[in-house]
Amino acid sequence: MAGRLQGKVAVITGAASGIGLGTVELFVAEGASVIAADIQDEKGAMLEKRFPGKVAYAHCDVTQEAEIEAAMKLAKSAFGGLDILFNNAGISDRMTSITEITADGWSWIFDVLVRGPALGMKHAVPLMLERGGGSIINTASIAGLQAGWGPIAYSSAKASVIHMSRAAAAQLSPQKIRVNAICPGLIATSIFGASLGLPREVADQMAARVADNAAKVQPVPKAGMPDDIAKAALYLASEDSAFVSGTHIVVDGGITVGGRHAWDASAGSPF
Ligand code: NAD
Repeated sequence: MAGRLQGKVAVITGAASGIGLGTVELFVAEGASVIAADIQDEKGAMLEKRFPGKVAYAHCDVTQEAEIEAAMKLAKSAFGGLDILFNNAGISDRMTSITEITADGWSWIFDVLVRGPALGMKHAVPLMLERGGGSIINTASIAGLQAGWGPIAYSSAKASVIHMSRAAAAQLSPQKIRVNAICPGLIATSIFGASLGLPREVADQMAARVADNAAKVQPVPKAGMPDDIAKAALYLASEDSAFVSGTHIVVDGGITVGGRHAWDASAGSPF
């Protein structure tokens, strides 16, 4: 049976771990060829070996425009063109209070989370137009919707990603390029530990704990996994979402609607 992305070519940034990795796996399973773009070269090389002929790794630091452009061009030289861009690479930081921010730290967060996806779109669009259209998906966050889910620079950047996606959709949709954002809730990835400066291995161990703890308070009592976000990306990448552009999908186990006690009648009324 043909996959939902049969014959499509995708660039996924931040593809070496977490949500990006889960999306590489799902997109390949659905028939896509994928440029896995990241700065973790060893993991990228392993991906190429795991999916011979279906995944090509691009060393691509999304703060470097030339590397972004090269990753997009690789989609054409390796697989013949570009249909899907998943702007997903991300970091967090420790500047939780407005009085703790530094000019350089703020710029770094915005360079990775906002300028990177903007430049990704810039270099993807000409290639998508050659194919008659495409789909761009930007990873935002529930931190971009509500205050309190992340440090201030991170949260501000993610809010910017949501609106940038709308603005780009308004411009690009008439040319058959749809643009949407995904707002993940708490997902078991190493981003939390990595932002605390922990080595990736330790960060990976911390990941499951964060999502498990979230599962105890969010309405959907299950830990959020990379695959949960990958499935939303698949929907937005595929023709199933042909009429969807300029919006964001919240994939958070319901955590932004309130605590579980507020609706669980079996637990007794909290009032
Ligand atoms: P992760 O740390 O597992 O993956 C992030 C990936 O981005 C890594 O492979 C890393 O090497 C890569 N990366 C970092 N800086 C880069 C750069 N300059 N250039 C290219 N690649 C770079 O974390 P994740 O949770 O999978 O993060 C993916 C996206 O999801 C991020 O944008 C993050 O902000 C967002 N997000 C995550 C959560 C969550 O709970 N995990 C929640 C909301 C949003």
